[in-house]
Amino acid sequence: MSKIIEKVQAAGVVGAGGAGFPTHVKLAAKAEIYIVNCAECEPMLRTDQQLAARYPELLLEGLNQAMKATGAREGIIALKAKYKAAIKAIQPLLPPNIRIGILRDIYPAGDEVMTIWLTTGRRVPPGGIPINIGVVVNNVQTVMNIAKAMRGQAVTTKTLTVTGAVKSPATVTVPVGTTLTEVLDLAGGAVCAEAAYIDGGPMMGNLVADLSAPVTKTTGGLIVLPADHLLIRRKQQSVQSVLQIAKTVCEQCCYCTELCPRHIIGHELPPHLIVRSVNHNAVGNPQLLQSALTCSECGVCEAYSCPVGISPMRVNVALKGEFRAHNIRYQGDLRQADPMAEHRLIPSSRLVSRLHLQPWYPPDAPLRQENYQPERVCIPLRQHIGAPAVAVIKEGDLVEAGQLIAEMPADALGARIHASITGTVEQVSPQVITIRKGGATS
Ligand code: SF4
Ligand code: SF4
Repeated sequence: MSKIIEKVQAAGVVGAGGAGFPTHVKLAAKAEIYIVNCAECEPMLRTDQQLAARYPELLLEGLNQAMKATGAREGIIALKAKYKAAIKAIQPLLPPNIRIGILRDIYPAGDEVMTIWLTTGRRVPPGGIPINIGVVVNNVQTVMNIAKAMRGQAVTTKTLTVTGAVKSPATVTVPVGTTLTEVLDLAGGAVCAEAAYIDGGPMMGNLVADLSAPVTKTTGGLIVLPADHLLIRRKQQSVQSVLQIAKTVCEQCCYCTELCPRHIIGHELPPHLIVRSVNHNAVGNPQLLQSALTCSECGVCEAYSCPVGISPMRVNVALKGEFRAHNIRYQGDLRQADPMAEHRLIPSSRLVSRLHLQPWYPPDAPLRQENYQPERVCIPLRQHIGAPAVAVIKEGDLVEAGQLIAEMPADALGARIHASITGTVEQVSPQVITIRKGGATS
């Protein structure tokens, strides 16, 4: 194992922008191109663009290490043209083997398959992963965490945007394990009578059921909206109701397929045919149905394309669950891309308007300098893909911020976990470790 991979593994670095795939595993692949994904295409989120503008040296240091580990000859920092501050900060520091890949302000520019296509012209095959075409993609915070890992710093904080119906939208840095309630307070609290919350962006984020939940290494953001907002109601819809609407009103207009980002770059995935098939009790070509497995869940079909309020995405999610339970994988070829593909991507401004977000769409969510210090953190032992980490400390132990508190289980995919504050271990369970600031338990 290379020194870089060893240090990244020791620091517990995982993909900060997605499901938390352990980064040391990604770095063990041999790649030609390494892409830093700073597209941040979810409307409202403003974390990566601001981090890139404020810490360009750290970003380039991390990218340089990642390229060394994977042997990549080219590095690309994918940024939207409108992120002028980030471009201005990074441009003068670029070595000859790293370039900025400029993206239009479209959705979903930050879906890694689309980021790769938009910046390199390469297309990930359906059911494939970026390394199949020689590319590794990581987001901004992950790459910065690689740089910190090389300095011996473990992942103990997360930077996220808190925005929407809040008093003072902000982008804040908090120790992992801080509650979402505290994060909300940092933005002055909700300003609507009855609020609902989304973890992540409005398109791909999930409803938050409980604000006492902790921030993890992968928390995408905290969006606050009125509880009766269209987006909230849509996310609350049951699968049964989604399927019923699909059955009664799908007019087979094909818009969902014509605008599906995966379909337009040459993946089979035809949401309108999948909906039709499901409406007729899954009659149809099994491979066509299985192409649901290649759906990125970007939400374009649900939130933008369908004129009658159907969610082909939710139909796909239901099918994915069935197929995965039976270990069924999609096998299909990459087809010709739509010659109009570039023009079928959704301008972010139109998406914001379609989502009725304008009243809750602040122009900014400034990145705060100071790091918040909570009294207590509740650190989950599974913040990544793979097996949960195993505690190596016990109740009553004094721990320092950055100290290892849970180890990867032997011979399993996973990531280490570190104390995010200095204090006393209050509770250890197979799911979480709670640490209270200070030297003695109460
Ligand atoms: S866009 Fe809606 S109505 Fe049109 S085919 Fe797709 S699901 Fe049916
Ligand atoms: S969510 Fe809809 S638009 Fe997005 S990839 Fe899946 S089928 Fe295509």
